[in-house]
Amino acid sequence: MFLKGKSAVVTGSTSGIGLAIARALAGEGANVMLNGFGEAAAIERARTEIAAASGAEALYDPADMTRPEQIAGMIARAHDAWGGPDIVVNNAGIQFVSGIADFPPEKWDAIIVINLTSAFHVMRAAVPYMRAKGWGRIVSTASAHSLVASPNKSAYVAAKHGLVGLSKAVALETATDGITVNCISPGYVWTPLVESQIPDTMKARGLTREQVMNDLLLAAQPTKEFVTPEQVAAFALFLCRDEAKAITGANLSADGGWTAA
Ligand code: NAD
Repeated sequence: MFLKGKSAVVTGSTSGIGLAIARALAGEGANVMLNGFGEAAAIERARTEIAAASGAEALYDPADMTRPEQIAGMIARAHDAWGGPDIVVNNAGIQFVSGIADFPPEKWDAIIVINLTSAFHVMRAAVPYMRAKGWGRIVSTASAHSLVASPNKSAYVAAKHGLVGLSKAVALETATDGITVNCISPGYVWTPLVESQIPDTMKARGLTREQVMNDLLLAAQPTKEFVTPEQVAAFALFLCRDEAKAITGANLSADGGWTAA
């Protein structure tokens, strides 16, 4: 239990990758603040299950990542509860698939705000607490789309490239403070976010579900396997270890070879 006594805030942790990361951090004894949208009863089940499994505390904060004051409030709440956060994971994210000429401006704004700007607000609020303790871990879920592009995902690709730039800058600013700042860039992970893109992509390209999965999504992934949320979570957990203290300002791929091509 190498994270006993530490505390973590994981944005977008009511589902998919974020939920797996929250489980993994709690599994090593960290107090965890869950965040994200969803059905209240399902969130409460996840919260109690995580607390029971770890023996540490689990709280839920409904902060909307489009609202800076709610983000600051969530970080302040983690500080009041636990004197943290020692670890923040910027994971909340949304996707929208459309060609540039038809891309709705409000979808562009939402993707940039949720996938990129929220990480700025989280880091801005959390870094002073980490500096005061001389220890901190900031991990952001970027994407293979932080390194390469795909058509019809302009806002997402821009936001994920931006998230890596933000992380590099903050890594340099905090390099002598015991804080590391890194991105994990998964390929396609089987989560609700990916599953929900399938109907639109089927419509946009006139393909069947199997064609979208095998010929489009996994076409880019040489292993021909989806990454799992648990694999991404294990990677995030490693970055929280003291052995990982030299890893900062990095954008680390877990993409089944996608960006090697
Ligand atoms: P998901 O849809 O399962 O989870 C997204 C989470 O973000 C949910 O908890 C949701 O409630 C939360 N969220 C969305 N809007 C929010 C808002 N305004 N405020 C607070 N929370 C909000 O998706 P996922 O696949 O687990 O994605 C998690 C992250 O991983 C995202 O940043 C995504 O871009 C990234 N990613 C996913 C994949 C993939 O293939 N699934 C690949 C690379 C990167």
